[in-house]
Amino acid sequence: MPEGHTIRRLRNDLDRLFGDGPITASSPQGRFADGAAVIDQRVVDRFEADGKHLFGHFGNDILHVHLGLIGKFGPSVDGADAHCRLRLAASGISWDLRGPSTCAVISPDVHAAICAGLGPDPLGRSSDPSAFIEQINSTRKPIGAALLDQRRVSGIGNVYRAELCFLSGIRPTTSAATVDKTTLADMWDTIRTLMRRGVRQGRIITRDPSEVGGPRRLQRLDDDERLYVYKRDSERCHRCGTEIRLVEIAQRKCWYCPECQQT
Ligand SMILES: [Zn+2]
Repeated sequence: MPEGHTIRRLRNDLDRLFGDGPITASSPQGRFADGAAVIDQRVVDRFEADGKHLFGHFGNDILHVHLGLIGKFGPSVDGADAHCRLRLAASGISWDLRGPSTCAVISPDVHAAICAGLGPDPLGRSSDPSAFIEQINSTRKPIGAALLDQRRVSGIGNVYRAELCFLSGIRPTTSAATVDKTTLADMWDTIRTLMRRGVRQGRIITRDPSEVGGPRRLQRLDDDERLYVYKRDSERCHRCGTEIRLVEIAQRKCWYCPECQQT
C-alpha cells in the first residue's frame, strides 16, 4: 500500500505538471465520467496531501483520491484505458489513475470532515509531538495497531510502522498506552525524518548509511538491505544477528527483532 511519502510526492508532481492551466479530465474506463466532467477544462487552485488522501481543489468541487492497496497514479501507458478511472492531461502531458479505492468529487464540508478525522501527519508542518503522544497513549491496543490507525496518526503504512518500532526499540505488540511520552516524542521525530527522506528519495530507506558504507552505497542496495525488519522474517537482524520474527497485528504482518526490541 502506498504510504504518506508517496502521496506527498504525487501532490508535488501533480502541482508541477498540472498546476498552471486548464486540465483536460476524462474517465477512459467510464466509471468516473460524471466526476471527470465536473473538473474538465478547469484550473486547479491547489493539490493537497493529507496522510494517505490526495485532494485537488477546483473551487467548491474537490477531487478526492485514495489509492487504497493497489491504486496507482502516474504517466499514461498505452493500452491501459480499460483500467483508467481518471486521466488528467495538459500541455502534452497525460497521467492516469488506476485502481484507486476512492475517486470522487466532494464538497468542502465533506473534505473538512475527512481531514478532521485524520490524526497528525508526520509530513505536516507541525513538529510538536503532543497530538501524536496523546493519540497513541489513549489506546491499550498494540502500538503496531495504533500506528496504522489513520485517526491516530496519518500516513504511516506497513513498512514505516515496522521500521519505526525497530528504530525505537519497541516491540510492536506492546500496549500503546504503556509507551512513555519521551519515547513517543522521539518516535515522532524519527518518523518525520524518515518520511521526509522518503519524499526526497521516492522510496523507503531506513538503514543508517554508516552501517553500509555511506549514503551512495545505500541507494544501490536491494530492499532487504535498505530496511531493518520489514519482510525479513527468518533472516538475521542487521544490528545484532538475531533472527527476525513475524507477528500479525491489525490484520497485517509485522516484523521485529526480539533482541533489539525488548520494550
Ligand atoms: Zn536485532
